[in-house]
Amino acid sequence: MNFFFASCKDLIFPAHCLECERQLPTWKLPLFCVDCLARVPFVRSPYCTCCGLPFQSGHDHLCGQCIARSYSFKLARAALHYNDPVVSLISNLKFKGKLTSLSTLVTLAISSSGFRDLSEPDIIIPVPLHAQRLRNRGFNQAATIAHAIFKKKKRKIAPTLLVRDRATIAQTGLNGKERRKNLFGAFSVKQPKMVKGKRILLVDDVFTTGSTVNECAKTLMKCDAEQVEIFTLSRAT
Ligand SMILES: [Zn+2]
Ligand SMILES: [Zn+2]
Repeated sequence: MNFFFASCKDLIFPAHCLECERQLPTWKLPLFCVDCLARVPFVRSPYCTCCGLPFQSGHDHLCGQCIARSYSFKLARAALHYNDPVVSLISNLKFKGKLTSLSTLVTLAISSSGFRDLSEPDIIIPVPLHAQRLRNRGFNQAATIAHAIFKKKKRKIAPTLLVRDRATIAQTGLNGKERRKNLFGAFSVKQPKMVKGKRILLVDDVFTTGSTVNECAKTLMKCDAEQVEIFTLSRAT
């Protein structure tokens, strides 16, 4: 957009902070005022070198779960803690399809330290929704996020390669064992040959216990993927 039109847009549709609604001088991402931007809860080191679990203090090391090799993925990173204002941005994206929330989240995600830890993938796979849920919602937020973050790698994005075969019940309120049982065998790979020997990056909105992304990673590793890494916009702690 050239300078003239950018200025007209600022005059006609002034930008507002997505958190406190204060008017901003320009449409510059992320759409936060200086005060709200300073409060954005980035996930920062120290964290688990494998699953990205944040620690209170000390240095990066493996957490107990990763020492016990509980996960099928090689590495998981999240950009932001799942606290305000991130919770409202994600729900605005997920349930209202708000694109200003998406572009702000993506700008923050790309500047996070977890994003820099990812290796170059061969294939980028958004965590799939079950067909019924996809019909109800109209879009898969993980696919929307993957396309927005990896605009320049869009040929690597494979939104239909991994399939959610079973409509699992919502994971909220289930413990770790119940979550794993709920997800067991929920995913399959459409063309296993495409996955063999490939470095895969899985993308999702929130990492809660890791059960969902881990079940996806397990399914992909069974098809002889070389490695699976995870990137989520946020992490619930
Ligand atoms: Zn603000
Ligand atoms: Zn860990």
